[in-house]
Amino acid sequence: MNYSVRLQTLQNESLRSGFDALLINHLPNVRYLCGFTGSSGVLLLAASGSVFFTDGRYKEQAREEVKDAKVVIGHRSALASAAEWLGKRPNRPSSKSLKLGIEGEHLTVAEQRRLVSTLPKNMIVREAPPLTERARMIKDADEISLIRDAVNVGAGLLDYAIESIQLGKTEIEAAARMEFAAREAGADGMSFETIIASGARSALPHGQASNVPIGQGFVVCDFGVILHGYCSDRTRTVYVGSATKDARQIYSAVLEAQLAAIDAVRPGASVGSVDQAARKVLRKSSLAKYFTHSTGHGVGLEIHEAPRVAKGQPEILQPGMVITVEPGVYLPGKWGVRIEDMVVVTEHGCEVLDPTRKEFIVI
Ligand code: ZN
Ligand code: ZN
Repeated sequence: MNYSVRLQTLQNESLRSGFDALLINHLPNVRYLCGFTGSSGVLLLAASGSVFFTDGRYKEQAREEVKDAKVVIGHRSALASAAEWLGKRPNRPSSKSLKLGIEGEHLTVAEQRRLVSTLPKNMIVREAPPLTERARMIKDADEISLIRDAVNVGAGLLDYAIESIQLGKTEIEAAARMEFAAREAGADGMSFETIIASGARSALPHGQASNVPIGQGFVVCDFGVILHGYCSDRTRTVYVGSATKDARQIYSAVLEAQLAAIDAVRPGASVGSVDQAARKVLRKSSLAKYFTHSTGHGVGLEIHEAPRVAKGQPEILQPGMVITVEPGVYLPGKWGVRIEDMVVVTEHGCEVLDPTRKEFIVI
């Protein structure tokens, strides 16, 4: 990972946005910019150089992991240490006030209050635009390679799900089997609570695995792993019992919508047009009203990150963006189907990262 380039790019963006310094406290952003993987750290970006703050628990780890930033080990929280450090900076004349950008989405009101009370009077604190999140939208070759590895480990879990999805077994049993296999395959953990939603629960778009015994009907399996910090995300929907004509039709409509949306992913297209492509297909079979969430989201160090692939969103796709394409149809109290793959935007279109086994599976 080329952390010095990332830090320099962000420093330039920050200056362009009118900030003299940026205080980064959202851990995935901290990790992206300097490599620190622990649970307490704050990074200060300034023209004079970058400084990373953490506490004594991470002394060794910070010295090993943090690249291209000076490391300060404080006796208090990382944020308090950063504020204290900034407070000790020589005061400038009031005409030369310094504008410090904070991550408004990630700093609590109480943290902001404490920060402001510690800083010198000529330091103005303002919410900065989500500059790191914007930089993180475009993945470099190293990141795409790590994401590819995570996707492959994640994809391999479906076989364990299929093996465990049996009448009478519980959703949790199937999820646990997949999660055990993920750890065996080297995953750092799951990228979110595994969703195994069977029968009428498959109509819950985020139906986390429960103690409910698996019955006849669709089972939505939405799962992913974190490998070397990067997330994977995949959904396959299988059918338990003998499938009705209705079930087959709804499955092929969702698959057709997903393929149409994947086809719409190319540089220069808006994320809204990808969402639109999926809805257009579902309108043909009057299922669009049951597609109640957005078509996808960015994935990387976080499971949900920019861009949001949703109705009317203007963000333009660029090579290097990694997004999910996951239309779903949910008939409340009856059943639900979702199919999800991760794709990377290439120079001329996109590449589906996930191995593409999507046929209707009956168990
Ligand atoms: Zn998912
Ligand atoms: Zn997803």
